[in-house]
Amino acid sequence: MERPNDSILARIDRYLADPRLEPEEQLRKRWAWIWMVVTFVFVVITSFIELVVLKLWPIWWFGVVFVLGYAVGFPLFRRLKRFDLVINIVFTVFTTAAMFAMLQVGGLTHSLGFVFIGMNCAMGSILAGNLRWTIGMFAWYCITILIVGIFQPSLTPPDFITQQANTISFVGLTFWINACILFIVILFMKDKSRYEKAEAEKLRKIDEAKTKLFTNISHEFRTPLTVILGMAEQMEKNPEKWMKAGPEKITSQSRILLRLVNQMLDIAKIEADEMPINLINGDIGKFVRYLTEPFHSLAESRNIKLIISQSEKPIFTDYDPDKLMHIVSNLFSNAIKFTPAGGRIYVNIEQPTEEHEKVIRIIVKDTGRGIPQESAQKIFDRFYQVSDQGDQIPGTGLGLALASELVKLMKGKIRVISEEGKGAEFTVSLPLTNTATASKDHGISAINQESINAGIPKTVSPSESGTFFKKEDHLPLLLIVEDNSDVVEYLRAILEKNYRIELASNGKDGLDKARNIIPDIILSDVMMPLMDGFEMLEQLKADIRTDHIPVVILTARGDFDSKLIGLKHGADHYLVKPFSEKELLLKLNNLLELRRKMQKQLGSIPFIRPAENVQYKHETLFMKRLNNLIEEKLHNEDFGINEICLSMNMSRAQLYRKFSALTDNSIGRYLRSCRLLHAKTLLVKHGRNVTEAAFESGFRNLSHFSTCFHEEFGCAPNEVIR
Ligand code: ADP
Repeated sequence: MERPNDSILARIDRYLADPRLEPEEQLRKRWAWIWMVVTFVFVVITSFIELVVLKLWPIWWFGVVFVLGYAVGFPLFRRLKRFDLVINIVFTVFTTAAMFAMLQVGGLTHSLGFVFIGMNCAMGSILAGNLRWTIGMFAWYCITILIVGIFQPSLTPPDFITQQANTISFVGLTFWINACILFIVILFMKDKSRYEKAEAEKLRKIDEAKTKLFTNISHEFRTPLTVILGMAEQMEKNPEKWMKAGPEKITSQSRILLRLVNQMLDIAKIEADEMPINLINGDIGKFVRYLTEPFHSLAESRNIKLIISQSEKPIFTDYDPDKLMHIVSNLFSNAIKFTPAGGRIYVNIEQPTEEHEKVIRIIVKDTGRGIPQESAQKIFDRFYQVSDQGDQIPGTGLGLALASELVKLMKGKIRVISEEGKGAEFTVSLPLTNTATASKDHGISAINQESINAGIPKTVSPSESGTFFKKEDHLPLLLIVEDNSDVVEYLRAILEKNYRIELASNGKDGLDKARNIIPDIILSDVMMPLMDGFEMLEQLKADIRTDHIPVVILTARGDFDSKLIGLKHGADHYLVKPFSEKELLLKLNNLLELRRKMQKQLGSIPFIRPAENVQYKHETLFMKRLNNLIEEKLHNEDFGINEICLSMNMSRAQLYRKFSALTDNSIGRYLRSCRLLHAKTLLVKHGRNVTEAAFESGFRNLSHFSTCFHEEFGCAPNEVIR
């Protein structure tokens, strides 16, 4: 809640607001102004008492100096950036005037307390925060007292200075100076506690940022490491199969790691002013078009159109090919990363339209998710990533920071215009100069193709996701939710022997697939676009159709808290990257084994309400709902699978898969068993005849009833009565 003095302070801050000042300067300006106002009010009161009550008219000029000082000082103080100079100059004038007034009224002994005026001014100077001026003010105050002291022997108090007036004025000014000292002390203490709070808050934020940074960086490191270690393991086990693809994958993942390390080192180099710049002169249009080439197939595989406006006219200018490659490929890979399927990316290289305009613009515009207003400038900060968009897209937040530093190094500018949900437009403006040595191939040979490739996100494309890799129906169905194509390939290599595999490239896709196919088990990454693994997990566990499916989370975060978060969201297991093949197989197998045990418990005896079971809470709940429904409706012959689907809000296929996952039984057979068991109970315990028992259990055809009964219990219904 806002305290009243907070709103007064807020109003003062608004009144004194100056965009040229730093927040800390603004704070000093506030307190120095308050000091001036308090002093002014006191001066008005004192002047009234001294002139009107004590009739000290001959010192009227002193009041005039004050009024003039404030009349000039207040407006200047508010408008000028150097408010500290204003307050110090005005207060120096007051201190000097106080010295003359003391000389007029008979020196220090009859000073009416004016000795304190200079001290008050010097203390006001403390609040303005200019140390040199404050020292000067205190020094000048001491000098004025010294001057009056030196003249003291030759001074005689005039008639209008009575003993009584001197005493009253002296006491009043003493109170005033005491109040002022108290004011400064309170301010100091408040400031100290505010400072301590701010420091604690700053530390907390740094800590938070560090954790976030480590999480992101560790994800970026652990994912390639998973593939590298995994591939090495596969090559050792199955050298023939992996001799070609293995080293390729290891190399490409190592390059990704190297690129990351280089990005960090580059930033450190730029910071230390040690990044050299190697300008060449070439056709920048041709060079940028060359850079877009490797991104075409990626865009295509994600169903994104990459449109480059082709200008026939070459644009010759100086640029550093390596740095431009880093800048542009970062903009391209971000545009692809943050644009959903069906989107467009436009690349445009604009020449100056006016003769005097010596700037070239490279514009990368996409129709993706865009950037929230409040984040638009922060994205160029190191490690900054836009959060709270319901997903966790892998990344380090380093790319744009480095791009912006590199643009600055080439004396250019980078800016972004964006509207959330509609797309982002990045413009790199570079100076058009032609002084560097011309390069025949426009700098293309100076860049390393591998570094461009390392910057291309290795994501699973929608066309890849969803493929069944094996069709053997007896194998459990595993849904892998992972956006990194190399990790997917590695997982596929180790799991395809034992599972039928279905793929999803992000949490949203994973959720849709899980609802559709009801897999036996899910293996999911955490950091993914559109919807992250935790969000997907939460929605899976809140949905009656999917809440039974065991989920193993693959993550880069191995700390205890992160594990707790995963388990809280309902994960059945939590596997930290990089993981070993054995560990993964064992965990998946253990979970399926547990399922089998549960199936035995839940599916063995139909129609017996399952006991409360903490371990299988969701599953028991589902079975209870189903059993209640069957019990209620089973006398109705027309009641069947369709009615169950309707009231459970599930499709036929979903119900079949969910039910068989829980009980290893078919829902049709289960329903029939329930009916027969009910009929048997009616025959044995309630004395019904065969016809009554059959009708009350939903059988209209007696011979069909007898056949089924015989199949289920091994005897005819009338034999049971006997
Ligand atoms: P990262 O490695 O996380 O992509 P960047 O520095 O390249 O790091 O980008 C910082 C953040 O800026 C990203 O996390 C993303 O939120 C935002 N961003 C960058 N480019 C785009 C874009 N084209 N569309 C939407 N958001 C973007």
